[in-house]
Amino acid sequence: MKRKQATIAVRGGLNSDEQYGCVVPPIHLSSTYNFIDFNQPRAHDYSRRGNPTRDVVQSALAELEGGSSAVLTSSGMSAIHLVCTALLASGDLLIAPHDCYGGSYRLFDSQARRGAYRVLFVDQGDEQALAAALAQKPKLVLIESPSNPLLRVVDIAKVCQAAHQAGALAVVDNTFLSPILQQPIALGADIVLHSCTKYLNGHSDVVAGVVICKDEALGVDLAWWANNIGVTGAAFDSYLLLRGLRTLGPRMKQQQQNAQAVIAYLQQQSQVKTLYHPSLPENLGHEIARKQQSGFGAMLSFEFDGDEQAMRQFLAALELFTLAESLGGVESLISHAATMTHAGMAAEARKAAGISDRLLRISVGIEDSEDLIADLEQAFQASAKR
Ligand SMILES: *Cc1c(COP(=O)(O)O)cnc(C)c1O
Repeated sequence: MKRKQATIAVRGGLNSDEQYGCVVPPIHLSSTYNFIDFNQPRAHDYSRRGNPTRDVVQSALAELEGGSSAVLTSSGMSAIHLVCTALLASGDLLIAPHDCYGGSYRLFDSQARRGAYRVLFVDQGDEQALAAALAQKPKLVLIESPSNPLLRVVDIAKVCQAAHQAGALAVVDNTFLSPILQQPIALGADIVLHSCTKYLNGHSDVVAGVVICKDEALGVDLAWWANNIGVTGAAFDSYLLLRGLRTLGPRMKQQQQNAQAVIAYLQQQSQVKTLYHPSLPENLGHEIARKQQSGFGAMLSFEFDGDEQAMRQFLAALELFTLAESLGGVESLISHAATMTHAGMAAEARKAAGISDRLLRISVGIEDSEDLIADLEQAFQASAKR
């Protein structure tokens, strides 16, 4: 029987221990494994290549995304770097979203500058721009939807299909929604990757990444490369990630529900200028989000209506929204794009991407939504009183 995502997340690796019958799989920290006899290795020989704890979380993640296999990596960035290293040779072209994650932008740009591969940053919502880029015969097309920080949605099935017609593989960064809300392989993607640091772990205490392949042979190839360049995830991180993963379903549900409550409050708040969330009909790609996602997610951003001083007053007065980067944890976070997540982008580029100096991004946590709204209200009042 095909199980639902929330069930798969809870049950990953349970009862797999044969030694003691542990319900929860134990952690295996050993870096090396003895040989049964001369030239007789066991299933594992060295933990960079393979580790039983990492195996368990990889199986759970592969099943969650409907892939044939998964490779857990040391971070989301090393997952992206792994895919590019394994699949792009010098001269090969990568197409990436113009508004992709800042770390991804920096990686592609710096690698292209040193000749590792070529990159084109394209607005994938612009059909003509995408078609023109695909005409240059890319090897890889990276999709990120919804985007950061404006939560723009692109049609994953359509972009995957166009990538395939151009002879490219389609890779989706599914970090912002998790497999609970979006399953890119079912939409046509060849590879799905995540920063597990965010929703998958969900407790802001692990940095990890994962690459999940639809095709078995491609998965074997990526696992080989992950061991070769040494980016595989640690046993302790695997254990924590598996523990965090078990509550992914209810966490996402509560975070989404809280996000909707926060949005309803922000909509009638006069110090909020523009609000960005895939659930809003005016948001770019709202209709596509309704079709390809099973929920609108818990990331939102808005433009603060006021000067910098007022905005700083607002941020300082908040008690339940911590001023910090990252997202997807049980705790609510707020960040200022221009000085934090998108500080690496030139002011002009930020402006062109529609990221103003008053743009604030919220990752809604699982606190009681009434407390979250009361906190926002008192902070808006504190900034208005000045
Ligand atoms: C955080 C993030 C990454 C990078 O992941 P790390 O775990 O921080 O290395 C990649 N893509 C997206 C969309 C992210 O939010």
